[in-house]
Amino acid sequence: MGKCCGNINENAFKPDDPCNPPSHGCTGEKTNNKESANCPVTWFGNMIQNCYEYATDAKSKGKHIVGIMCEYTPRELIMAADGIPVCLCGGSAEMIPPAEEHLPANLCPLIKSTFGYNIKKTNPFIEMAELIVAETTCDGKKKMYELMGQTRNVHILELPQKPDDQDAMSHWLSQLRNLKAKLEELFNVDITDEKIRQAIRTMNKERQLRRELAELMKSQSPSLTGRQLLDFKSSISGICADFQQYSNALNMYKNQVAKPGKTSPVRVLLTGVPIVHGAERVLDIIESGDGLVVAMDNCTGLKPILEDVDENADDPITALAQKYLNLPCSVMTKNNRRMDILRQMAADYKPDCIIELIWQACITYDVESYFVKKLAEEQLGIPYLRIETDYSPSDSARIGLRVEALFETVRERSVCK
Ligand code: SF4
Ligand code: SF4
Repeated sequence: MGKCCGNINENAFKPDDPCNPPSHGCTGEKTNNKESANCPVTWFGNMIQNCYEYATDAKSKGKHIVGIMCEYTPRELIMAADGIPVCLCGGSAEMIPPAEEHLPANLCPLIKSTFGYNIKKTNPFIEMAELIVAETTCDGKKKMYELMGQTRNVHILELPQKPDDQDAMSHWLSQLRNLKAKLEELFNVDITDEKIRQAIRTMNKERQLRRELAELMKSQSPSLTGRQLLDFKSSISGICADFQQYSNALNMYKNQVAKPGKTSPVRVLLTGVPIVHGAERVLDIIESGDGLVVAMDNCTGLKPILEDVDENADDPITALAQKYLNLPCSVMTKNNRRMDILRQMAADYKPDCIIELIWQACITYDVESYFVKKLAEEQLGIPYLRIETDYSPSDSARIGLRVEALFETVRERSVCK
């Protein structure tokens, strides 16, 4: 971890200190290289390259690259083992045909794309990983890991299915202790409580910065788009330079008035599956018209960063277990907390409608969409649209028409009010 992680001082920018570079307006004017390095838009636009350089450098210094594929894995445990947690979820449509040579076509594109990278060996982070943590979430992922495990070092992290049951926490705790033991043995390290607490502080800081950025969208006229917000995140957590750029982005957007263009956009709450890097097509379609995605509850949005971990808990692993078991994913039954979060987000972000994105063959989110539709229409009183698609752009025009029809409904309702 960098020297300033968990300890960013927003008021102490120093030009030559990589942990305290000067804040930059990033207003689009011509910049020299050094200035553009301090622009959060440029920085996160280069996110994969940044992560690659960071991981390569860390590996050369004896750190261990560990792949993860779900937000249930506590990154803190990996960081406390001198590891670098990297999200391996694939967002590329090009990786799907090679995956379909081994996996059924009727599988979620996220799983197929991840596996395509695995067999084509084109994701440098998979190639660098000494261990891949494989979380037993949906059936497709669970079975894909078995194929991945033929050529990779895979550790299965078994999730409870019924998070509210009394024995769920003890099972989950034992799974986290198993993961800790695995990391200690593989990397020949001692994961002390203090190391975990340090990693918790780092992750809490990251969650806080990303939360503050997301909360800018509560404004009646936000100065950034949902797509810009989505881009402000990284495949690797705990990168010091990212923290500085989150701070830069906060300074920049807090002081900016709304961009001209959309005078009264349709505010959208986007829910459902994660939108991983490279698979942002539906979000772009929504925002190419009158839409503005003011909130996303998915795993690439607010869901994983809503809660922090208790930094002062006597047993930091129990604290981690509590935070992560609270994650409201559709793979759990029942998943009432997701509805609670959506209700709260509707109150905070004032959406005009809810759009639910479902990756094709994602059974759990698809079935759960029944409850989300009811929540939107019967409790919140706002229109709901379910979009099921994959990574191919072939249905973009059709999706655009359906989104436009939804916005028309929103406009009609606002006139009738
Ligand atoms: S949606 Fe569920 S399975 Fe997917 S990353 Fe989030 S928690 Fe994991
Ligand atoms: S989107 Fe659905 S099917 Fe795909 S990996 Fe996530 S939970 Fe599984």
